[in-house]
Amino acid sequence: MAMGDTYRGINHRAVKLRNRATVFRIVRDVGPIARVDLARQTGLNAATVTNIVDELLAAHLVEETGQGKSRVGRRPIFLEVNPTARLTLGLDLARDSITGAIVDLAGRVVERFAEPAGPWLDGGVVLSTVEEMVGRLLAVLPASDRRALLGIGIGAPGRVSFSSGRYLAPPAYGAWDGLALRQEVAARFGLPTFFDNNGNTSTLAELWFGAGQGIANFALITVGTGVGGGLVVDGDLYRGAHDLAGELGHMSVNLAGPRCACGNYGCLEMYVAVPRILAAVRAALTTGEPSLLRAEGHAAGALTLDDVISAAGAGDALAGRILADVSRHLAAALVNLLHAFDPELILIGRDLARAGSLLLAPVRQEVQQRAMAMLREHFRLEVAALPDAPVIGAATLAVREFFQAPLPDRRKIVA
Ligand SMILES: [Zn+2]
Repeated sequence: MAMGDTYRGINHRAVKLRNRATVFRIVRDVGPIARVDLARQTGLNAATVTNIVDELLAAHLVEETGQGKSRVGRRPIFLEVNPTARLTLGLDLARDSITGAIVDLAGRVVERFAEPAGPWLDGGVVLSTVEEMVGRLLAVLPASDRRALLGIGIGAPGRVSFSSGRYLAPPAYGAWDGLALRQEVAARFGLPTFFDNNGNTSTLAELWFGAGQGIANFALITVGTGVGGGLVVDGDLYRGAHDLAGELGHMSVNLAGPRCACGNYGCLEMYVAVPRILAAVRAALTTGEPSLLRAEGHAAGALTLDDVISAAGAGDALAGRILADVSRHLAAALVNLLHAFDPELILIGRDLARAGSLLLAPVRQEVQQRAMAMLREHFRLEVAALPDAPVIGAATLAVREFFQAPLPDRRKIVA
C-alpha cells in the first residue's frame, strides 16, 4: 500500500496556489468583503491575505468598493470580484439547434447567438458547426477582450465523458463515435476546452449563478424533449465513477411500464417528457371529451405544451388530468431522489418549469404522502432560475476551473 502518498506534504507553491484560490472563491461567494473578514474566514494571517489580495488587484480580478457599513471610525474597504475581468465562450448543442454565448465571471451573457443546426450526421458536421459558432463569437470581441478569454465550454445531450472529452454514448440522432470534441476544439483555438452533458452544464449554471447558489446539496431535473438533470453534492457537481451520474430521466417509476431506449422499463422520461405529454393529450382528445384544447389548430398537430398549461390554468378538466398524471410520476421520482441522497432542494428546469405552481403544488402534495417523515419535512421544490442555463453552464465549465487556480494567468493568444 502506498502509504507514502497519503502522508506526503504539500510544497510551498501548491499551498500558495490553494490559498489564492480560496481567497478568490470567498470574495466571489460572499463579497463585498473586507480584508479582515477574509482573514477570519480563511484562517490565514493578515499579511498573507494582504499579499494575495494585492496580486488579485494587480491582475484586475478583484476590485475595491467603498461600501463600508461601519458608521463609526474609518469605513473599511470592501473587495469584490471584477466580473468583466475574464470572459468565457459557452456552446450548447441541442437536437436541432446550436446556441453560443460570451459569458462573464458573474454568469452574465455578453453576446448570444442561436441558430438552427444539424442534423448531426457525423463528427465532421459537429466539429464544423462548433468551429463556425466559436468563430462568430470571437469575431464580435475586440482584441483586448480576446486576451481575457479563459476557455471554451461545450454542452450536448447524451452520455458525455467529461474526463476524456468524448462521447460515451451519443444521442439517438447522430453518429459522433470517435470524435474527440474537446481536444479538436482546444487544438483549433488554442484555449482550454471542456465538454460535458447538458444536464450537468445546466446544473452547474444553477449552482454558480441561479437558484442553487450557496446550496451544497441539490438536484436539478430538466424536462424538455428529453428528461435529464444533474446532482450537486457537497457544493460541487457530482459526476460519479464513470461520468455517468445524473441520468435522472431513467429512474423507473413503473416496473410494468413500456421499455425505454436505455434498456430499463417505465422510465420517468416516458411519462413526463414534453412529446409524451402531448401524445397523452392527443390520445385523450380522440375520446370526444370536451376540452379547450379541441381547437382546429390543435387537431392538426400544432398543440404545444404552453397550450396544455394555459388550458389547465383555465380549469380545463382534460388538461388538468394530464398534468396531474405528470405530477404523480414526477413525484415518485423525486421521492426516490430524496431517499437516495437527502438534497436540500430539488429544482425543475426547462420547458415543464413553465407550468409553475400548476405542477409544483400537486408534486409537493404527492411527495408529502410518499416520502419518509424527516425528508418530507425538509423537502423544498422550486423552478430553476436560468432559462439560458445550458449555455451559461457550458461557459461555467471554464469559469469553475479558473476559480480553482486563478493565477498564474494561463491565457493564450487566440487566432
Ligand atoms: Zn430509460
